[in-house]
Amino acid sequence: MIPVKAYAAESAASPLAPFKFERRELKEQDVLIEILFSGVCHSDLHQVRDEWGGSMYPMVPGHEIVGKVIKVGSGVTKFTTGQTAGVGVMIDSCRECKPCKKHMEQYCAEGMTGTYNGFERDTKTVAQGGYSTQIVCDERWVYHISDSLDLAGVAPLLCAGITTYSPLKYANVKPGDKVAVAGLGGLGHMAVKFAVAMGAEVTMLSTSPSKEHDARKLGAHHFVLSSDEDAMKKIESYFDVVLDAVSGNHDYEIYLKLLDVSGKLLVVGLPKDEPKVNPFELIKNRRCIIGSMIGGTEETQEMLDFCAEKNIVADVEVISMQYINEAYERMLKNDVKYRFVIDMATLK
Ligand code: NAP
Ligand code: ZN
Ligand code: ZN
Repeated sequence: MIPVKAYAAESAASPLAPFKFERRELKEQDVLIEILFSGVCHSDLHQVRDEWGGSMYPMVPGHEIVGKVIKVGSGVTKFTTGQTAGVGVMIDSCRECKPCKKHMEQYCAEGMTGTYNGFERDTKTVAQGGYSTQIVCDERWVYHISDSLDLAGVAPLLCAGITTYSPLKYANVKPGDKVAVAGLGGLGHMAVKFAVAMGAEVTMLSTSPSKEHDARKLGAHHFVLSSDEDAMKKIESYFDVVLDAVSGNHDYEIYLKLLDVSGKLLVVGLPKDEPKVNPFELIKNRRCIIGSMIGGTEETQEMLDFCAEKNIVADVEVISMQYINEAYERMLKNDVKYRFVIDMATLK
């Protein structure tokens, strides 16, 4: 077994604190990664505080992982030691069902195996995430990372990046399309970068007036305060796509109203309470709501290669492991610019 240091939550009410546990020995297809950076996703906070139900403790969160390969199993073909590699939100799936065969493992018929807060498929032990010094993962769920990019900025691509890239691609966003992004946090800021890179005219919808300058720096062409009813009225029926990356409780109606004929509301935000949907707003303009969960293994590598080609990384605030509880409190105040990333050297 491989001993690792980590930070874990012991219950929904307890802060994250130092924790030690062991990773499994490498199986044939496994890669051992020394973790350099670990991004902090709002899903970590939702699960640590059991906001979605069914959380398992002790829980080591973290599913935006970047590091160096330090050992490979005898059957590994994709990696050699010394290479830079990443792990995201999934570490396994059934590999046999229709979505798995299409490399859309996030929609595995048996349910994908999450990087933490679930059981590993074969050992049935609780999987633990990236707020730790090392991780063992089957090579199918390990990605190549270009060394030309800033590694702290790459970590958030493994969740915030793929979760916004995938639905924008699915919606076929192309030059000239009008795209709005709701919620300027980790996911939202990546959505702006991707939509701009895809050639769209991008509008940021935010509840924070202080974020206008940053939204424009990220590439957004327009900024609208979502609490400003007059401003929101002026952009009704304007957009081809609205991407909802909002973490807090909200209804879909204010965003649905903004969609033009056949417009799509792409939902990735996962608040605690269920949003209300008014069917009259849906039938108007033949609007549709599309949910999207991260992205599959092939699409994740495609997204990472796209980022390397276009020089796209997340805007990050690098923190120490010891700062994590404060970081969570700031995330709840919408005070993240625009992703906290833990420097795992601070845990060693
Ligand atoms: P984050 O960094 O905390 O950003 C969320 C942003 O949403 C905030 O900065 C704020 O932006 C806005 N917001 C928060 N509460 C709001 C409310 N009540 N009404 C309107 N806007 C509000 O969170 P994140 O890490 O980007 O994650 C966003 C959501 O996506 C979370 O629910 C997360 O669990 C989910 N998620 C889903 C997937 C998936 O596969 N579908 C993957 C990862 C994460 P402004 O200040 O601009 O208003
Ligand atoms: Zn995430
Ligand atoms: Zn499957």
